[in-house]
Amino acid sequence: TEFLLQVEGLKKNFPINNGLLGKQTGEVRAVDDLSFYVKKGETLGIVGESGCGKSTTGRLLMRLIEASDGKIVFEDKEITKMSKNELRKIRRDIQMVFQDPYASLNPRHSIEKILEEPLIVHRIGTKEERKKRVNEMLEIVGLSSHHARRYPHQFSGGQRQRIGIARALMTKPKLIIADEPVSALDVSIQAQVLNLMKDIQVEFQLTYIFIAHDLGVVRHISDRVGVMYLGRLIELADSEELYKKAMHPYTKALLSAVPIADPDVIRHNIPLSGEMPSPSNPPSGCAFHTRCTEGMDICKSIRPNDQNIDGHFVACHLYNG
Ligand code: SF4
Ligand code: MG
Repeated sequence: TEFLLQVEGLKKNFPINNGLLGKQTGEVRAVDDLSFYVKKGETLGIVGESGCGKSTTGRLLMRLIEASDGKIVFEDKEITKMSKNELRKIRRDIQMVFQDPYASLNPRHSIEKILEEPLIVHRIGTKEERKKRVNEMLEIVGLSSHHARRYPHQFSGGQRQRIGIARALMTKPKLIIADEPVSALDVSIQAQVLNLMKDIQVEFQLTYIFIAHDLGVVRHISDRVGVMYLGRLIELADSEELYKKAMHPYTKALLSAVPIADPDVIRHNIPLSGEMPSPSNPPSGCAFHTRCTEGMDICKSIRPNDQNIDGHFVACHLYNG
């Protein structure tokens, strides 16, 4: 099939415990009924404010945490049903790049050791072959192999993210889930790392899920973009379409907030007001109704269904019927 990954009805609830009584007093619906697919070779951007469930989604896809409900299918194999042993194998094919490479790189290990580790875990190659691949990979991400003996603190933030990318590439994965990979970097460095990610995507035939909190960052790397709010995807469309014809009031508000130097991007003048409500106590009806400037009576009581308008998905009562 043309799909690498298919997600259906994915949910994750975290219990809220009352510390004194030790009883569960409620739950946080961190991910609430997500369905989407990722095609081979494409980049799906997932955007939302912090707390919208986008990082939880990434961790669910890797099965670093267990889903409460739903199905994750990778190349016709159901990740949500795999045994530990099957999971270990599939993790060669799915790798993650994290927001803070410094926190994810062991400070006491040399770069060589850090990059070799995934190969040892997955029993790939001889010692010599592993060394060779470490050096190749350092060159591919734009760092000389002379750096192999150095330690994470000896590198800049941008270089450390290159190392994080090299580590993700070591097992020659098919899918990379990048969780805010450039958010901690200066704008000028962001562009370099994004360009590197684009180059290696072609070279290694990678598929990306690219998670970010702002629509500006994912614009040039994504083929399609989904917007999340309080655990749900509220809009998903081809990248070009989304930036020119955003439909959901939340997406429009996000677009007004982000400076995008591109005359083709339709700018809206809808300020995003108020805080995101707590996921432990989400508003009734449309979860965005407490911040929406276009809300109607129905929005407070009835949750909008996904509408598919020529492949442009939107969940908002403005587009019903
Ligand atoms: Fe706004 Fe109603 Fe649409 Fe929700 S469903 S985004 S409250 S108009
Ligand atoms: Mg996050």
